[in-house]
Amino acid sequence: MANITRYIIGNWKMNLTIHEGSLLLHTLDQAVESHEGVEIVLAPSFLALQSMSLQADRRKFKLAAQNLYWRDEGAFTGEISANQLRGLVKYAIIGHSERRNIFSERGRDIGRKVQAAIRNEIKPILCVGESALERSENETNEVLYDQIVGGLSNLTSDDVEQVLIAYEPIWAVGSGKSAVPTDVKEVAKVIRAQVKHMFGEKVAAKVPILYGGSVTPTNAAAFLDTDGINGLLLGGASLDAKQFAKIIDKAQDRKK
Ligand code: PEP
Repeated sequence: MANITRYIIGNWKMNLTIHEGSLLLHTLDQAVESHEGVEIVLAPSFLALQSMSLQADRRKFKLAAQNLYWRDEGAFTGEISANQLRGLVKYAIIGHSERRNIFSERGRDIGRKVQAAIRNEIKPILCVGESALERSENETNEVLYDQIVGGLSNLTSDDVEQVLIAYEPIWAVGSGKSAVPTDVKEVAKVIRAQVKHMFGEKVAAKVPILYGGSVTPTNAAAFLDTDGINGLLLGGASLDAKQFAKIIDKAQDRKK
């Protein structure tokens, strides 16, 4: 990750047909003038990955899976393994709050998925974050601790150098109500301290920490300027080429 200074990752979730995704990529490609130092990552549906990998300028856009299954192959109807994604994607989003809450993914499954990704040379983007209730009960740090331990246990220090952590408070995802940058700065410290506790200072200093949750072109700069934050995970804003490109521009500005 030598020259990467900021990550801007777009999670398209279960939106866009293959054709619509292709059009969005085309428009985005035209709108993004410079990407030096910014790792732009697109996470379309599994269906669109193959065609997007042929369409995308691979120097400008990297691909991510939105999920994967932790076994490499076998009788697991409907699942897609890291082994099948190997070579097609550089990253995989793991433990997104929608997977945890709608599909009941728990710490152990998430840890296995992180391991499967690394085993198959895919960098996991481990999502963590507290619910509104947990926040109101001052449980944020404990929740993050459990999610980080669940996601990173059984890894070596070398493995953890492949991991990105996205702090996505659940109440901020898709709600239009983003977190406050000063709070995000404190949470980033807590996350880094936990990684340091598990794997040491050198590893902790290297792990990129991203913020996600109702990021828009208006608030993106504040998060990009937040200490300890190395990039953004976008949902809604990544479905609009103009907004997505504006946010990439902000990351590019900060690089200069
Ligand atoms: C997300 O889905 O990871 C996300 C951050 O969504 P949004 O930007 O729409 O809040």
